[in-house]
Amino acid sequence: MRAFVLTGPGEGAVLEVPRPVAAPGEVVVDVERAGVCGTDAEFFSGDMAYLRSGHTTYPLRPGHEWAGVVTAAGDGVDPAWVGRRVMGDTMIGDGTCRRCLRGHQHVCERRQEVGIRDGRPGALAEQLAVPVSSLHALPDSVDPVLGALVEPGGNALRAAQATGAGPGDRVLVFGPGTIGLMAAMFARAAGAEVHVMGRTEESLRFARELGFRHAWREDELPDLPFDAVVDATNAAPLPARAVELVEPGGRVVYIGLSATPSMLDTRALVLDDVTAVGILSASPGLAATIEAYAAGTVDPRPLVGATVGLSDVAAVLAGEHSTGPAPKVHVDPRLT
Ligand SMILES: [Zn+2]
Repeated sequence: MRAFVLTGPGEGAVLEVPRPVAAPGEVVVDVERAGVCGTDAEFFSGDMAYLRSGHTTYPLRPGHEWAGVVTAAGDGVDPAWVGRRVMGDTMIGDGTCRRCLRGHQHVCERRQEVGIRDGRPGALAEQLAVPVSSLHALPDSVDPVLGALVEPGGNALRAAQATGAGPGDRVLVFGPGTIGLMAAMFARAAGAEVHVMGRTEESLRFARELGFRHAWREDELPDLPFDAVVDATNAAPLPARAVELVEPGGRVVYIGLSATPSMLDTRALVLDDVTAVGILSASPGLAATIEAYAAGTVDPRPLVGATVGLSDVAAVLAGEHSTGPAPKVHVDPRLT
């Protein structure tokens, strides 16, 4: 089968690789859709932190936002899974340690991450194999495009939930990329008044097209009380800026990662009674994200600016594939 393989920084190609087989407890999925994420671009550039920490080495096969159909089941797997449309959790804990047993498998010390960590091949391929325990079935109302948006959506839903915001609350989101805009959508669906802060007019115009009329550059931010601030950027100064802008007693939520340390004076948290939350991974938010998509309370499909075949992935990761203002690129591995 064909799979996108990264062999080194800036080196990626579609290669013919052996088809996966369903090991005990695992299934093989035919991929219908896979999203390309900022993490994948960092693997392409060589900047991804796991490359330095040794959690990942080249060659690697990326892709962790996906939807597909189960086509084979290994020993110990209920055969009823075969034929079902599914998405899968990126985080695969060992299932035995204290963190896993307490429901925190997404931060298991010995976890694998599909397409990211510990050599588990990802979804930028015709097929992938994953543990059946990582699967979430998709209802018919969640199409393959939505299905491949469940993983980023789970991150965004958790960020929105961490704001604690609802009707009568005002939320400011830094960064109108995929995660920021989806977090804004979930916060809006919860009833909050949502403001978006971005750098380029193109990104702010796109946010307005999604109905976020309060879309600002940093120098135009209105002087309003923000009950929560979400940082979904990679800008090192913004975590501290979030604390400056949030109301006393409010909440700051960090889901972006900067390449350099982002410094924060904890006295600013204490003196304003601010709660700060970090979000890693979608795992605890996947089921609720599927429910929101199925119910139509959040529909992030306009974020997909282009759908390409595997042969275009290298150009996408290199930033050479124009997608317009919508931030997400999807891959359909059945396209040539
Ligand atoms: Zn564990």
